[in-house]
Amino acid sequence: MNPIRLLLLGAPGSGKGTQTSRLLAHFKHLQSVSSGDLLRQQIQRETQLGKVAARYISQGALLPDAFITELVQNELSSKGWLSPKSSFLLDGFPRTIKQAKALRSKLSPHKAALTMVVELDVPESVILERIENRYVHVPSGRVYNLTYNAPKVAGKDDLTGEPLTKRPDDTAEVFQKRLDNYKQTLAPLKQFYTDLGILHRVSGETSDIIFPKLLAQVDKAIYE
Ligand code: AMP
Repeated sequence: MNPIRLLLLGAPGSGKGTQTSRLLAHFKHLQSVSSGDLLRQQIQRETQLGKVAARYISQGALLPDAFITELVQNELSSKGWLSPKSSFLLDGFPRTIKQAKALRSKLSPHKAALTMVVELDVPESVILERIENRYVHVPSGRVYNLTYNAPKVAGKDDLTGEPLTKRPDDTAEVFQKRLDNYKQTLAPLKQFYTDLGILHRVSGETSDIIFPKLLAQVDKAIYE
């Protein structure tokens, strides 16, 4: 089995969280880090860092590169993933070219650089509709959708029974800003990973269409 260090790229609402959960269910040796989940957990715990993050998130703005880079890199390091044998998924980080370069500088000396980047390509019309029906379980990052992935008990997480919440940045106005940010930062990020020869793309309207395609690519990377 080859180590895989995978980044999922995609617009907000493109299903990065959902695809991550499905990959983790399939590949039991994988674990993930989501920058958005880390931040929401800090906000829920009302930490100092969470207070800073909440100001940016509520406006749909990206956090400063140095701030988020340190947060995620500390997480990678504390999980012991700065090693050539490590395998992990990243969701939501890096999101800018500066973050991508900083991460590469951190990982490369440990021979633990990303091995694969996959862009989830979902039509914008589908994304907007999804966001309105999205609920999350903050401690785990599990994502639900009232139309096609409803919780077994309304308003409760399937595994813990804890309450689900609506993300405060999933409103039409804030969402548009997040989408604009994504579009602005995407091109250089894609170029960076294209130049490294590790960028892939999967397209589709639903998570059920995307997942088998993503799985095939990841499977190939792990087993060939
Ligand atoms: P997400 O859950 O990935 O949609 O992230 C939610 C929000 O957290 C984003 O809209 C940003 O405000 C912030 N955030 C998450 N990841 C990053 C990142 N890599 N760089 C800057 N801000 C981030």
